[in-house]
Amino acid sequence: MKNKEKTKEQLINELSELRQRISYLEILEEKYKEIEKKLHINEERFRDISENANEWIWEVDKDGKYTYVSPVVEKILGYKKDEILKKHFYDLFHPEDRKKLKKAAFEKFAQKKPFREFINRNMHKEGVVVWLSTSGVPILDEEGYLLGYRGADTDITERKLMEDALKDSEKKYRDLVDNAIVGVYKTNIKGDILYVNKALASMFEYETPEESKLGGVISKYKDPKDREILIKKLYKKGKVNNFEIKMITKTGKNKNILLNAILNGDTISGMILDITERKQTEKKLKMYTEELQRSNRELEQFAFVVSHELRDPMVSLASSLKLLKRKNKGGLDLDSDVLINSAEERIKQVQTLLSDLLVYSRFGSSRKKLKPTDCMSVFNQTIENLNVSIEETGAVITHDYLPEVIGDAIQLSQLFQNLLNNAIKFCDKKPPRIHISAERKGKEWVFSVSDNGIGIPQEHIGRIFEIFKRLHGIGVYSGSGIGLSICKKIVENHGGRLWVESEPSKGSTFYFTVLDGKFLNDLSR
Ligand code: ADP
Repeated sequence: MKNKEKTKEQLINELSELRQRISYLEILEEKYKEIEKKLHINEERFRDISENANEWIWEVDKDGKYTYVSPVVEKILGYKKDEILKKHFYDLFHPEDRKKLKKAAFEKFAQKKPFREFINRNMHKEGVVVWLSTSGVPILDEEGYLLGYRGADTDITERKLMEDALKDSEKKYRDLVDNAIVGVYKTNIKGDILYVNKALASMFEYETPEESKLGGVISKYKDPKDREILIKKLYKKGKVNNFEIKMITKTGKNKNILLNAILNGDTISGMILDITERKQTEKKLKMYTEELQRSNRELEQFAFVVSHELRDPMVSLASSLKLLKRKNKGGLDLDSDVLINSAEERIKQVQTLLSDLLVYSRFGSSRKKLKPTDCMSVFNQTIENLNVSIEETGAVITHDYLPEVIGDAIQLSQLFQNLLNNAIKFCDKKPPRIHISAERKGKEWVFSVSDNGIGIPQEHIGRIFEIFKRLHGIGVYSGSGIGLSICKKIVENHGGRLWVESEPSKGSTFYFTVLDGKFLNDLSR
């Protein structure tokens, strides 16, 4: 009995062991609770992440059938979670890509390795294209057999569309550059040609852009020093505009080139324009202009000499005829009287012609300095000069405000005088009515001299500004046909234009332009 009964000591031991176990169990329970809490937190975290992430999270079995999808899928592809769970991942691919993408995906499955950024085109439930970037890791059992994959998909539709648009615009830009009519190039400082477009290659007689790269850019300079200057300028300012150089083509022809360049790190890019023809034309034009100016000067000189030299003989011829008439007053027969009168008439005409010629030669290529000139006082002076013919014809001349312009008072007075003279002369109405006005157009004034005269037929309008061109016989209206040529010269000397609008039997308006008095600096002469 004594044996069977536990001793007090034994009981104490057992009790303490029990206590230890209880406290161990309590610790375990505590730990378990803690783990459960952590698990709960983790689960919540996972749910928060998977439900609110932009990516949708999925799991598929080894055949590709979905076994789990996070609800975000509905936002991205329009399908409810349950609808997706009935599908294989490849059912969602765009029909055009399905076969190819399915093959590629299962090749990845076969490798049983994680993969990243597998780009695929899918169809939204409503038929819109959705681009996804897929990453996944394999799910393996203990023996390493593939059970499936799990991973996440990111919607990259916006990025993809932007990339496509960028590619598209890059292609368009490239097409544009490749086919531009100006030469486009890219070189480096050393002189290697990195890119040229077709236009540049053919400008230099190369078959292809590739061929033109041979030998680098320096070999194409007529004077390699020009390139050194270009590089110096580029280092200083970063870009160069309208740099004129001479270059050589494949067959050794010289080309005048206008070049624009921008320095970017080690590369220089820009455009070039072949201005060879333009240069030649400019050269020819300069030559012709000089030739024209020379022959004009000769003509004016000739006109001056002729009018000067013939003036005195004409004066003595006229006085001889006057003397002859006086000496034989009453003694000559009628025919001789008519002859002498007609000779006097002719001499007067020649004298008018000579004095007009003299004016023409004087204003021909006037180099007089132009300055702000008050047209009102020029006009008043002109009216005084025309006093006799105004009184004879009873002409009524009215005018608006006449401004200050950049001009030469003597020439402008001659201009007014010739135009007014014609307006009075070529008029069959009584009284001749003439109106002068001036209208501001930008920096210029457009003057107009309108009359109520006989007008000019449309078909003759272009001819009347040529020297000696008259539309009427000598006996009908007096004149030499030089007046309007003088006007034209004067207006040209002022950097302006002269033209006429007219309607036969209603009247004519002559227009001319001159620079406003404030714009002395704008005068390009
Ligand atoms: P001219 O007056 O000496 O004949 P111009 O050179 O001044 O020479 O004018 C050339 C021609 O233009 C004139 O002969 C005339 O036929 C025509 N013409 C000029 N001004 C007028 C005008 N105001 N009205 C009609 N015809 C005109």
